[in-house]
Amino acid sequence: MEKIFENFGFDLTEKQTILFEKYYEILSEYNSRFNLTSITEKNEVYLKHFVDSLFGGKFIEGSFIDVGSGGGFPAIPLKILKPELKATLLDATGKKCEFLKTVAKELELKDITVICGRAEELAHDKFYREKFDCATARAVAALPVLTEYCLPFVKKGGKFVAYKGDAAEEIKNSENALKILGGEIERAEKLDLSGNLRTIIVVKKVKETGAEFPRTNARIKKKPL
Ligand code: SAH
Repeated sequence: MEKIFENFGFDLTEKQTILFEKYYEILSEYNSRFNLTSITEKNEVYLKHFVDSLFGGKFIEGSFIDVGSGGGFPAIPLKILKPELKATLLDATGKKCEFLKTVAKELELKDITVICGRAEELAHDKFYREKFDCATARAVAALPVLTEYCLPFVKKGGKFVAYKGDAAEEIKNSENALKILGGEIERAEKLDLSGNLRTIIVVKKVKETGAEFPRTNARIKKKPL
């Protein structure tokens, strides 16, 4: 399995390889009891979850919050790649949070906090608002909605890193949301994941987000920015 990482330029230590192996085992075990991911075949998990999650690694430093972490993507692979990161994993589903806590414990990962809650509520808590160097999210919502969930968590000068497929259309549609919420697209890096187009969108937070954002979920869904 190390080969898969090597093929994409990730030179992992033996310890990191073992941690991915353990993560795969726990993921498989839980997945047979409740659905965390529809991807179960080992090569596929390594490629589409592990390698894909690592793609954003070079843009993430310091503290980060992974919004809608689910089975732990991209947060857990990022923590394995860069143990010095301070990670907060947020998910709205209790069972997923229990799983994430188990992974953190079994892999003996340090500086990792799991929070069960909704992004649009937690982002108004002064303990979390504009407190992170970075926010990450993969497969949670379309970019205008996702920006409203994520950017309020990021300090001015920090980044929001969105993991997307073909993102050209979403980038166009998020111009207004970015302007209102205080973000600017710094880069959109296209990557080839064995024939699948992936895009890592790096949004720089250039000004503070207005106190009225994020709005309630009903409002966000009904009237995306
Ligand atoms: N990021 C993971 C999971 C994607 S599934 C991956 O890439 O595989 C989307 C996850 O986001 C679900 O686990 C869901 O519970 C969570 N989620 C969706 N909206 C959310 C919100 N507003 N706040 C917190 N979690 C949310």
